[in-house]
Amino acid sequence: MHTGLVHEIDFAAEGRQSGYLAIPYSIDRSPYYQIKIPYLRLKNGNGPSLLLMAGNHGDEYEGELQLTRLMRRLEVSGIRGSVTIVPMANVPAVMAARRCSPFDGGNMNRAFPGDPAGTPTARMAHFLETLLFANHDVIFDIHAGGTSMAHLPCLLIERQTDPARHARALELLRAMSPSYAFIADNGPAAPTSMGAAARAGAIGLSGEFGGGATVTPESMAFTAQCIDRLLVALGVTTGPVLGTPAGSDRRPLQLLSLCRHSQGIYATRRGWFEPAVDVGATVAAGEVAGWYHDLERPEQAEETLHFAEAGIVISRRLHTDSQAGDCLIQVAEPIDD
Ligand SMILES: [Zn+2]
Repeated sequence: MHTGLVHEIDFAAEGRQSGYLAIPYSIDRSPYYQIKIPYLRLKNGNGPSLLLMAGNHGDEYEGELQLTRLMRRLEVSGIRGSVTIVPMANVPAVMAARRCSPFDGGNMNRAFPGDPAGTPTARMAHFLETLLFANHDVIFDIHAGGTSMAHLPCLLIERQTDPARHARALELLRAMSPSYAFIADNGPAAPTSMGAAARAGAIGLSGEFGGGATVTPESMAFTAQCIDRLLVALGVTTGPVLGTPAGSDRRPLQLLSLCRHSQGIYATRRGWFEPAVDVGATVAAGEVAGWYHDLERPEQAEETLHFAEAGIVISRRLHTDSQAGDCLIQVAEPIDD
């Protein structure tokens, strides 16, 4: 077997299944090398089916750590229905501490629907969309800002064409009670996991839980809270598994929209970005967003950058050194849905 993805998951089988999805990929060090992607599947009778995944991007750690913890804690007798956990979907990227795979440069969240005869990232994306997503009712794909970006902790769904499915996605999102959530309009052909979930007939939930290629007590607690509340809302478990008391600190949800290029400020040349505000700040149109320095021309005054639109700062670049094309800061618009 030189292409494809090898697995032994039996979706109908009751009980505990664990092991590795294997993607054969011949490399210099190892002609018969296989990329091994760990998973756990538990099934206890009929009921809801939930897929929890992280490591779609390698350098986003909250989901990777909380889902491997959940794999160690969850028991078949403690659930109803089925749960599949894939904590490191793009394991080469995770092991390289990078967003994309070092083998093929693959950005998994731009690789759907994938290709069964393509590069490893494309093969995994194809397996996820056609088999794993298609065999679950709900997909929760956990992200963060990654090495270069700070992100407002928030949940995310993509707008669904099916009104009933969109309503159910919003209902589950509210049950996880984040302070912020945003609805992306990426269209039915989106190369993202959320686009893939919709095409596979599943409800897709995602979110940004931290950033900067690190975790904090707050980002880990928010991630645990969302996983626990989703498990309980679906009826997979009757209480929290990762330890957060479900039902505490419920705050009103603010929905956000990010749909116009003018909501972001992008670099058009090499420079060094100094932010004036951090994620979570409420800003007005015309307000100072930061300053863009030129260390190659120290005699030149820094350029003052202004927000074109009002809203809540949802992300900002963490790496000061920037190049043309880099997104420096973004504001999302508060909306009612
Ligand atoms: Zn990501």
